[in-house]
Amino acid sequence: MTTDDLLARHRAVMPNWINPLYADPIELVSGSGARVTDAAGRTYLDFFGGVLTTMIGYDIPEIADAVRRQLDTGIAHSSTLYLIRKQVELAERIAKLSGIPNAKVFLANSGTEANETALLLATQFRRSNQILAVRNSYHGRSFGALGVTGNRGWSASSLTPVNVSYIHSGERLRGIFAGLSDADYIERSVADLREVLATTTSGDVACLIAEPIQGVGGFVAPPDGFFGEIKKVLDEHGILWVSDEVQTGWGRTGEHFWGYQAHDAVPDMLTFAKGVGNGFALGGVVARGDVMDSLTATSFNTFGGNPVSSSAGSAVLDYLLDHDLQGNAARVGALLHEGLRALGSPVVAEVRGKGLMIAIEFVRPGTTDPAPAVALRVLEECKAHGLLVGKGGLHGNVVRMGPPLTLTEAEAKEGLDILADAIRAATDAVAAR
Ligand code: PMP
Repeated sequence: MTTDDLLARHRAVMPNWINPLYADPIELVSGSGARVTDAAGRTYLDFFGGVLTTMIGYDIPEIADAVRRQLDTGIAHSSTLYLIRKQVELAERIAKLSGIPNAKVFLANSGTEANETALLLATQFRRSNQILAVRNSYHGRSFGALGVTGNRGWSASSLTPVNVSYIHSGERLRGIFAGLSDADYIERSVADLREVLATTTSGDVACLIAEPIQGVGGFVAPPDGFFGEIKKVLDEHGILWVSDEVQTGWGRTGEHFWGYQAHDAVPDMLTFAKGVGNGFALGGVVARGDVMDSLTATSFNTFGGNPVSSSAGSAVLDYLLDHDLQGNAARVGALLHEGLRALGSPVVAEVRGKGLMIAIEFVRPGTTDPAPAVALRVLEECKAHGLLVGKGGLHGNVVRMGPPLTLTEAEAKEGLDILADAIRAATDAVAAR
């Protein structure tokens, strides 16, 4: 069975809106550390992990052992009908790590489900379906989560009934807040929030849902301290703040365990998913106890926080803390950020992000006009030379990286060399046109 056959079968049976990356998509058949091998036997250094799902790399014995021990009990499938020791233990640890006072935790299967639950809780707690979200955001593919997503590429066709007002994303490369200093940006954003609240809402808004650094949106972020200032306004109205930490959580930014911690304020809820199960389906919501318990109807979850996922989650957490992966994200991330910034190319408008969340935005030389074709070229060049990176941004002109937090300096340098060559090739191709 070749990958070509598989692609044809995929196209025939899967929805049109599920699009594998690359002109010639790849099928992963094995992985080890930061490397994966495809069905054709080609090995790649993986800087994207299928979008940040490999928190600590592939084929990690500690995770496999924890999962195997649970499978050996024969219990892989206990729903919330029963007590699940592994789930309670994991929830206790996450509650403590969250920084949210009197925290309670609901374990789910994905980021989408986590955000959907957060929206349910916020609207229930506040008895309002009015929601503040952020332009250029992504929160998941369900009816509600897509409804608060502010990225037209993902949400334009959604006929969701959620009542949403959008605040500004932190974009300062172009647009109405272009070029503003951090302080001016925050001041203008706070004024804008007040205006949004006064003009498009009744004031009785349920929550603001926001990513500290936008993931799908191309790692666009407001300045540090932004959400602290925004929260002061929210507090005047009793509006909850939900921090979507699906990409920024667990030390990925290097400087903090959660992305919100760069903002001198604590959210009322946070959501997490992606790499927390290192491949196993696991996500969740941490909420203030009173907010979590505001849902009075009985609820249930068949698979969320099942014994296997919870075992994986606890093993990931142990590994993360025992090996100081947050520190590694800071160190190895700095090497990548500096290396990429030093490249200097007329098609690179910005290298941004934090820790092991790194984005490169491509533009037409001498302008801030998005250059999606250049980003695509870089993506394909990298692949051809053994490096997997991702794409993102509203215009598809951003190359994104979120390698495993275990990435070594040697692997970072190897990736950097491939990226440098790819960017050079893409720059030359633009110049030759
Ligand atoms: N929130 C953010 C910030 C995300 O990046 C994503 C996934 N890209 C989601 C939510 C949705 O998560 P999932 O794909 O696990 O449903």
